[in-house]
Amino acid sequence: MNRRNFILFSALASGISSVTPVAWALDFGKAMDVGKKLSDAESVSDEDLKTYFDQMAAHEDTQNKVAGPETSYGKRLAKLTNGLNNYNGLDLNFKAYQTSDINAFAMANGAIRLYSGLMDEFTDDEIRYVIGHEIGHIQSGHTKARIQMAMRTSALRSAVSATDGKAAKLADSQLGDLFEKVILAQHSQSNEREADDRAMNFMKTLKYDPNACVSALDKLDNLSGGGGASWLSTHPSPKERANRMRTQLAA
Ligand SMILES: [Zn+2]
Repeated sequence: MNRRNFILFSALASGISSVTPVAWALDFGKAMDVGKKLSDAESVSDEDLKTYFDQMAAHEDTQNKVAGPETSYGKRLAKLTNGLNNYNGLDLNFKAYQTSDINAFAMANGAIRLYSGLMDEFTDDEIRYVIGHEIGHIQSGHTKARIQMAMRTSALRSAVSATDGKAAKLADSQLGDLFEKVILAQHSQSNEREADDRAMNFMKTLKYDPNACVSALDKLDNLSGGGGASWLSTHPSPKERANRMRTQLAA
């Protein structure tokens, strides 16, 4: 079991509410006591943050089996993301990972990754909802806020501040640590609602069936009983969210 799968497994084994947010809150409290850490983190430019996300995405791509363009997953993903390389000014790039996990994630540099386990369970429009939701997290600045927090609180801060203004080349272990803090930490309910609202808007704007937002979340809620949906450990409360979107569509 590689490190990432171990983390996902741990999160699942401990139930949907993983322990990460608690550790996170403690780290954050510590950072708030130390003004210098905060100012160092604020000084990391957007450009440098992007290079850290680029390094994280490249590292994850080596840790997973990426579906090639000739595979059924690669072909389906290409069809579903046709025309999405730029969306509302955001440069996006998509890959599918061949793994049975039901999961997806996005990074602030526009990297969006879908797991084949999720693609197996979802219809095309339900996958589009997931894509719209992940884009929503980027548009709302959620992953950017997290990397800034990680820079404030961890050993990464010294790695980053030791480079005299140039973006550091992070070691694999640092990239794994960053992935855990920035991508595997659970989103808050308010972040989830914000990303869902953007997903609904995405579906309507591109003329896809917005009911897929509801059916995808209902499906995830059903799957959560089987413990197979690691997406839930980072994107919580599908039932409440499905009901909320159902109400919006009925209005
Ligand atoms: Zn989410």
